[in-house]
Amino acid sequence: MSWFPARAVVDLAAVRSNVESLAAHAPTAQVMAVVKADAYGHGLVPSARAALAGGATWLGTAQIAEAIALRAAGITAPRVLTWLHAPGAPFEDALAADVDVSVSAAWSLEAVVAAARATGRTARVHLKVDTGLGRNGLQPDELARLLPAVLRAQAEGAIEVVGLWSHLAFADEPAHPTVLAQADVFAAALATVEAAGVRLEVRHLANSAATLTAPQVHYDLVRPGIAVYGLSPVPQVGGPDEFGLVPAMTLEASLATVKRVPAGHGVSYAHQYVTTRDTVLGDVPLGYADGLPRHASGGPGHPGGPVRVGGRTLRVAGRVCMDQFMLDLGPDATERAGDRVELFGTGADGGPTAQDWADAAGTIAYEIVTRLGASVPREHVHAEALEPAGAGDVR
Ligand SMILES: *Cc1c(COP(=O)(O)O)cnc(C)c1O
Repeated sequence: MSWFPARAVVDLAAVRSNVESLAAHAPTAQVMAVVKADAYGHGLVPSARAALAGGATWLGTAQIAEAIALRAAGITAPRVLTWLHAPGAPFEDALAADVDVSVSAAWSLEAVVAAARATGRTARVHLKVDTGLGRNGLQPDELARLLPAVLRAQAEGAIEVVGLWSHLAFADEPAHPTVLAQADVFAAALATVEAAGVRLEVRHLANSAATLTAPQVHYDLVRPGIAVYGLSPVPQVGGPDEFGLVPAMTLEASLATVKRVPAGHGVSYAHQYVTTRDTVLGDVPLGYADGLPRHASGGPGHPGGPVRVGGRTLRVAGRVCMDQFMLDLGPDATERAGDRVELFGTGADGGPTAQDWADAAGTIAYEIVTRLGASVPREHVHAEALEPAGAGDVR
């Protein structure tokens, strides 16, 4: 029994068309749809299938377990890369599942080689170079020092280096000088690796923001994540529609209770909100345990997260609690328990978006969708989008 009074409706046709838009922005590159973190909260396998139908030829995950889950679900054709490993990572399982792995430290080269020897498989490896983000990846001088060991492992047949890759620090600020500075460091690393005789299949650097705004760094493969789900990686530059994207997730709930209260009534913990007139309160059965940000609470001087109710947009009244929050529906409200409210969606009808919740909570839309709890059922619609557009046509 898994009935729940709220649901996240995920439009697979939107995911498919978003990938088509991304591919059009990067016509000279292949598209790796990044499906880490349960496809940014949208459901790993259905989202991956929709992205493939939209033209993605690669899938990317941070964790090995998600890459293996894709294969276990029967997603066998596309290449899958997984990149965030710590000692003890199950590289043997990754190789057995025909998954490409990333090497971003000497220890992981050793571990991947050991897994290749143990399984008798050749590991397809993407060398990760830190071109300036200051996060995961080999420093350029470390990469140069590791190359002899890389070449030995390749000569032995334990690994095949298929990719060199990196990640940008300021892609969400398209004019930021570090974008092209990182590209320069990347070019130097490419030259080093290729001079050593490595023949790379794919060079990749671009996330969603760079896919949409920095064609100079598309190389052979782009790695969009957030844009696959229809959210803008650069909200200060433009919303989804400006990039041909449609938000794929709509979060909706059923009102649990609706009741009339007098003026001066405190609402929710610590009475951060107090009614100013006789009014009607609605109780929305979603809270921070379900992933809503408590920072989207509403009170004086701080508008809470927006909610669409019967054609009007209201704001969270008072504190967001663990499992619920309140709305002041107004004195003339006609809503009843069970009525649907929408926390965020496409925004097409002027309704609230995940970006609006991010703004209300002082965060980014990524956090709003990825932190939506496993408690909230995902309902996938437009499953016909799992077929490639025009499937059945002669092409
Ligand atoms: C998450 C991630 C991406 C996708 O980033 P978006 O900003 O969501 O497009 C690409 N590459 C790496 C290494 C990542 O960690």
